[in-house]
Amino acid sequence: MAKVRVFALAKELGLKSSSLIKALNHMGVPNLTPASAIDGETAVAVRELLMEQLAKARERAKEAEQPEAPVAETVSEPQQAPVAPPVEADVAQQQEVAAAVPEPDDESEIKEREQELAMLERQIAGHGFGPSHPAAYSSIEDLEQRIAQVEATADAEPRPDAVLPLPELAKRHSGPRPETATEVPAVVTVLGHVDHGKTSLLDALRNTRVVAGESGGITQHIGASELEVNGKRIVFIDTPGHQAFTAIRARGAQITDVAVLIVAADDGIMPQTVEAINHAKAADVPIIVAINKCDLPTANPERVKQQLLEHELVPEEWGGETIVVEISATTGQGLDDLVEMLLLVGEVQELWADPTADFVGVVIEAGVATSEGAVCTLLTRNGTLRVGDSLVAGSHFGRVRRLRDWTGKSVKEMDPGRPVEVIGLSGTPDAGEIVTRAAGPKEAREIASAREEQARQHDIEASRAAALRELFAGMRSGEVEQLSVIIKADVYGSAQALEANLMDLDSRLDEVDIEVIHVGVGPVTESDVMLARASEAIILAFRVDYAPAVSQTAEVEGVEIRPYQIIYEVLDDIVAAVSGMLKPVVETRPIGKAEVLQIFRSSRAGVVAGCRVVEGRLQRNAKINVVRNGESVHQGTLNSLRRFEQDVSQVEAPAECGVATEGYRGWQVGDIIEATIEVEMERRVSLTGEMKVQRDHG
Ligand code: GDP
Ligand code: MG
Repeated sequence: MAKVRVFALAKELGLKSSSLIKALNHMGVPNLTPASAIDGETAVAVRELLMEQLAKARERAKEAEQPEAPVAETVSEPQQAPVAPPVEADVAQQQEVAAAVPEPDDESEIKEREQELAMLERQIAGHGFGPSHPAAYSSIEDLEQRIAQVEATADAEPRPDAVLPLPELAKRHSGPRPETATEVPAVVTVLGHVDHGKTSLLDALRNTRVVAGESGGITQHIGASELEVNGKRIVFIDTPGHQAFTAIRARGAQITDVAVLIVAADDGIMPQTVEAINHAKAADVPIIVAINKCDLPTANPERVKQQLLEHELVPEEWGGETIVVEISATTGQGLDDLVEMLLLVGEVQELWADPTADFVGVVIEAGVATSEGAVCTLLTRNGTLRVGDSLVAGSHFGRVRRLRDWTGKSVKEMDPGRPVEVIGLSGTPDAGEIVTRAAGPKEAREIASAREEQARQHDIEASRAAALRELFAGMRSGEVEQLSVIIKADVYGSAQALEANLMDLDSRLDEVDIEVIHVGVGPVTESDVMLARASEAIILAFRVDYAPAVSQTAEVEGVEIRPYQIIYEVLDDIVAAVSGMLKPVVETRPIGKAEVLQIFRSSRAGVVAGCRVVEGRLQRNAKINVVRNGESVHQGTLNSLRRFEQDVSQVEAPAECGVATEGYRGWQVGDIIEATIEVEMERRVSLTGEMKVQRDHG
């Protein structure tokens, strides 16, 4: 049976993909994306089940709209009671009612299947698919809203705004959607190897798809642009390459909703393509692959798809999850498909912002124009930005003198989710800096200087966190359990060997994950540093150099670059580090044996066993196991150890002593006492295997 894509099925059912994914999730089909293909049989089952549920929901909604329809209280009508939970039912009530599904008195097989179905229905009902009452939903939108509400309540956590780090403000919303919320466009970044067609693609999209009237001769004005298709917008970030992408992320702000990975069909996957893939993956951004230049006679899109497999991007047509579109920026082939996919992925994320909220923006780029001073391109994330507003952007501030949209047209205000050019700031903030509004110019200045201090603190903390030994310390205390590394090497072979060794080490350890975020050939670049910063990774520079500027950036960003010449040095360091990260294990070790010779009572210690130590030693606070005729009769702690009427800490064989353990009076002559102690073992890892080293003698 043919496979069906999640979004197609959702469309068919009149649901949003995200809602369908949730439902499927509850039905035990995890890890789906809108582009996932589910097998035909599952699709049929889901279709039947959900159609039924939705039909019921819709029917009841319709009934509820009719004046003659039963009023809310008559919900206990027999034909409705089994599946329709009562008014404003909470989950418990819903389950109670659902549990009342009548059982067929036929064969047990049917019964079992019915119960299964009832369970599924209950699960769906519990998550908002089932109507809680006929009057509860007047439309499918209502139903979806209710799903959103249920999810929002589940996700909601108190987050005191006072301690909210700034980048947090620029994040996409989760949680209840206010009434004033509006849909916002998805933000797309195009990534790929040089000359594979990033600029050409953006130009082609703009030239053929900008709003009527604006098209023709549009020269892009700022580092971002907008596309409008069927009333839906997409925002493109045009700052070139993944370096800027990661630079923004390194500041803590993640603004990209979808990454388009462009690969030239005649050239295939190249080093910067790999970098781009790893940067997008590290950012956890969905990737759509655009195979460009398909118009060329030398184009070989199939080869590109093969190469994608090596990077865990399995094209949909081969059963994977990755959307791959074949395009040509020159002829326009496939661009409609690409745009459709972008809109789809955006739509599924249900992005929104609140124009009435406090203003938040993110700096995309900034520069100085001689006539106007600092010019800064922002992406507005929330609230509405207006001329005259006082802004703070990092350590810079100012009053907005002028606003321009991406085409260079002056505007009075800009709603959330869109790029805008701001004139009036005191300087040029870094890409990724968060912009907020202040009550007035004076407040803006104050906040800016407070923020500068905050940024300094943050940098100090970040550099502390990134240094290798601190990572280890964090791992030792159990705070950090991942060691992320970026490998840069002189030749591909050595990079691969190093990676293989690290992966081998990783597979032998449960407690820590060594994650190789990126492997590349050639000198360490600023882009590597930014990736390391954003992912809290260290850079292993194997027989490669780096420019002074790179080392300076690394210093500023608090990223550790560790240069190596010999492969074993790298491994030794990692091994030493990992060994520090392993939690010690506690081992029980036998220390000696004693035989009970006589029993006597002591007013101080209760019943005392007079023994002879026959092997090793007895030690106060050791664990003891009392063995009689080969069977254990008591286990406890050796509380009292005496020799010649004196308390002693240990007695070695051969010697006699008195032993007592709290609460045990059942000693018999002939019992054997086995003493053990617990030893904390520090674990070390060597390249040949795991080794344990005793830490102390407990
Ligand atoms: P970027 O470095 O990724 O921004 O790549 P450009 O957009 O500057 O494109 C590099 C070169 O490839 C330019 O000469 C473009 O004209 C050419 N190019 C881009 N897209 C296509 C395409 O679809 N077909 C063909 N034949 N050439 C293309
Ligand atoms: Mg370009």
